[in-house]
Amino acid sequence: MKYKKIILIIFTLSVLGTIFAVYKYFEYQNSIPYQLQKLGYQKEEREIIQKKVKNFKKILNMKYNENLSKIIQEKYFIEKNLDAYISYQKENNTKDYTYIVSVINTKANIEAYEKAEKADISKNDQILVNKHFYLTEDYVPSSIIDIPLKYAYENNQIRKDIYEIYKAMCDDAQSENIKLVATSGYRSYIDQKKIYDKYVKTYGEKYADSYAAKPGFSEHQTGLALDIIGFGTNRDTFEDSPAFTWLQNHAHEYGFILRFPKEKEDITGYAYEPWHYRYVGREIAKKIRNEKITYDEYFAFYLK
Ligand SMILES: [Zn+2]
Repeated sequence: MKYKKIILIIFTLSVLGTIFAVYKYFEYQNSIPYQLQKLGYQKEEREIIQKKVKNFKKILNMKYNENLSKIIQEKYFIEKNLDAYISYQKENNTKDYTYIVSVINTKANIEAYEKAEKADISKNDQILVNKHFYLTEDYVPSSIIDIPLKYAYENNQIRKDIYEIYKAMCDDAQSENIKLVATSGYRSYIDQKKIYDKYVKTYGEKYADSYAAKPGFSEHQTGLALDIIGFGTNRDTFEDSPAFTWLQNHAHEYGFILRFPKEKEDITGYAYEPWHYRYVGREIAKKIRNEKITYDEYFAFYLK
């Protein structure tokens, strides 16, 4: 009697064990690592994908792509851009992954002014205005004030809250014998239209587009941008002056960034402009400087 009972227990346990093993096997077959492996992803690739991707459906429905984990591994990878990265990479396979992610994040693959969207003005002093995000004709920032002649050429204005910060920066520079001067500040939509039209008339549209923004697309309309040079320098000589070096070392401490840096022309859509500074706040300015990115890249990854 006792013997039979033991057999029955062993039998039941082995049936349960088999059911459990079969269940586990099917569960494994449905698991993401297994399906990724089936597609051809190696262990290292699977780990990268699993760590950074939230929705695997898309990847599991795609064929194996040797670039996928490399793109995903990029610091500024944004999951919703995955398809765009992949198709851009296909057509630009000599470009590195960092560049590909940057271009897509900032919409730099789209022709300037095409498919442009309204800038998000609720972002206040973190607003992004570039060749893809514009301000409407009636956008005027609150409390614009004249910059005193001590700190700017005639007829230049800036947002009042930013003026105090700009003034402090100029005064601190002055204490080190650096005299900063703003040559251009706030510009209305109409001001920008005049500038742009003049550039087109004088130099042609292509040149105009790399140095002047179309009306609505200039950061100067935000009241947060300043063209700054050293007193006694001009746009051509400023870069080699101590004033430029001073700004390179200190502008971020006041919340200003060099907005159109060298070798980022593809991303910003502008030629290098050593004189154009934009207020973004100290914390962001420091981060942008440390990470060596543009505001377009920062905004896409951290603020959008
Ligand atoms: Zn400027």
